[in-house]
Amino acid sequence: MPEKFNRRSILKSLGTAATAGTATVAMSGSASAFTMDERVEVTASALNTREQPGTESTVVATLNNGEVGEIMNGPVDEDGYRWWGVHWLDRNVWGWSVEQYLQSTSGGGGADFDWPITGYITSPYSSPSRPNHLAVDFGANGNIGEPIYAARDGVVDIRSYQADGCGNYLKLGHENGYQTLYCHLNSFDVVQGESVSRGQKIGGMGDTGNSTGPHLHFTIEQNRNHLSIPGNDGDNVTAGDPIPKDYSGI
Ligand SMILES: [Zn+2]
Repeated sequence: MPEKFNRRSILKSLGTAATAGTATVAMSGSASAFTMDERVEVTASALNTREQPGTESTVVATLNNGEVGEIMNGPVDEDGYRWWGVHWLDRNVWGWSVEQYLQSTSGGGGADFDWPITGYITSPYSSPSRPNHLAVDFGANGNIGEPIYAARDGVVDIRSYQADGCGNYLKLGHENGYQTLYCHLNSFDVVQGESVSRGQKIGGMGDTGNSTGPHLHFTIEQNRNHLSIPGNDGDNVTAGDPIPKDYSGI
């Protein structure tokens, strides 16, 4: 077990950025914010924790998937990321890590998501040929109406139509600031504002909007930042199976 610690010394160890707003965590109405002393775990295979917020700061340690810490300070926005000061319990070290690779260990589904369709990947996340495609496309033998399922418990934030883009699409909101997007649908099984359960059928695959054939375009975001989704062209996926948590570290 970690030793008892003195908050003043911890804040000092977490660097000068700790002098701003140390007493309370800035919630700013966002569901994404962690709270002081909240336990979090790493969702990346190799996540750096740093002396200060920012990608240029010295790396204190490189953490493994599943390592647990307690929120001690933050958040601080730096270099395009939101950083939290964390006391990493097993190592008994303190450092700043980015929010999108942390998840709460207290209740809820954490950062895990399930594949939303049974099919195969036709365009992976940010491939060399499509670096700006921050999504995964799935095919299912051109089967219009192939069931599409919620990747996690949530609420239907948006049900809409975009002629020159997503066509019929759904955007689900999940706890901790996550959202998932499902595009080019042929049909809807849910309405805006409806609560959905992980694995619940939410629509059918289609070819609506800017689409070259029946497929599902799927994204995971946290606080409007796209998260990397693993998988290669041609990989088979099964609806309801967990999406591996091999997000690359920062
Ligand atoms: Zn796509």
